[in-house]
Amino acid sequence: MVITPVFVEFVPDVLQEGTLYISMIYATVVHKCCCGCGNEVVTPLSPADWQLIYDGRTISLYPSIGSWSLPCKSHYWITHNQIRWASQWSSAEIEAGQAADSQAKSNYIDCLKPRPDVLASPSVLSPIPLSPVPMAAASPPTPANPTQAGWFGRIMRRLFG
Ligand SMILES: [Zn+2]
Repeated sequence: MVITPVFVEFVPDVLQEGTLYISMIYATVVHKCCCGCGNEVVTPLSPADWQLIYDGRTISLYPSIGSWSLPCKSHYWITHNQIRWASQWSSAEIEAGQAADSQAKSNYIDCLKPRPDVLASPSVLSPIPLSPVPMAAASPPTPANPTQAGWFGRIMRRLFG
């Protein structure tokens, strides 16, 4: 069984069977449940939801699509436009999966929040102090009397001495 990906801006009101509507702008993928029950399956794309892989020809969605809230409780993978049916989960497995999902989601939301511990840390906000530069290196030693010392003194003496 094959599903055809269609890239759209807005998901149409009436969905065709066997079509996967992909809205990149809204980071959402919508299709009609592959079991034929006619229900819409919405799979938002995010690090905590589904990931879409488009190889230029076919799409894959990860992880699998488990329509636990639908009466059909369909569970399948979409890989390279192919529908691969997976085993139906028991209600215990569904609960465990949903708990893992909500944990992934809250982790993802946490990482979007500004980290107060980082912001409060003075080393982040205050400028990094420059390492002290030795004075000798910063300013070359100046002779007390430039006309009598070093190369300048030698030139002066040769010219005027
Ligand atoms: Zn279904």
